[in-house]
Amino acid sequence: MVRRIMVTVWNENYHEKVNEKVSSIYPEGIHGTIAKFLSSQADMEVRTATLDEPEHGLTDEVLNSTDVLTWWGHKKHKDVNDEVVEKIYKRVLDGMGLIVLHSGHFSKIFKKLMGTSCDLKWREVGERERLWVVNPGHPIVEGIGEYIEIPHTEMYGERFDIPQPDELVFISWFEGGEVFRSGCCYNRGRGKVFYFRPGHETFPIYHQIEVQKVITNAVRWAAPVKGPIPIFGKVQPLENI
Ligand code: ZN
Repeated sequence: MVRRIMVTVWNENYHEKVNEKVSSIYPEGIHGTIAKFLSSQADMEVRTATLDEPEHGLTDEVLNSTDVLTWWGHKKHKDVNDEVVEKIYKRVLDGMGLIVLHSGHFSKIFKKLMGTSCDLKWREVGERERLWVVNPGHPIVEGIGEYIEIPHTEMYGERFDIPQPDELVFISWFEGGEVFRSGCCYNRGRGKVFYFRPGHETFPIYHQIEVQKVITNAVRWAAPVKGPIPIFGKVQPLENI
């Protein structure tokens, strides 16, 4: 049997506890919803971790056995321990996949991996969004149509202060006129990072089938590959010179 992809779904799990609208949309938490649809995949083994757990649920044992980590945070980015961020960073460089969702654009780990402010424009009036696929051959859009339409969402607009993505998969259009690079792939060391914009907590976006499909595809894309481990530093020549 093929080895399953070990997925850890992380969530700060704050809005769910303090906002009734959010807890009615996500009674098991955003992490619970994401873990549920990923768990239905035969090739994935899924667990969850949240901010309030010791070490935010991301102990060495959990991180070292995680192939792909998904990240949802919004209000509590500053409460994430720097030591944990450093460990995630090292694991990404070492090959662990990272899927950063929505307001995770301002998480410590995403900003550290990007090296830029990751700032953007926003507006919360429940407008329509169309995510256009701009890379139709990419594994992340397998089974997706020409675009995904989200009926009501928060707007994120350009400029999005990120480095040029290694691969751009989606560009969003918003009813109010803005556009946004909403599906961005990066390689960092041996690891892969995917930023995916949808997912504002007061709209049922993670219940939408196409959004679930993209995240599921992204987990497979970001899973580590058993490639060579690079050797750095002073080395002997392979030929006589
Ligand atoms: Zn939001």
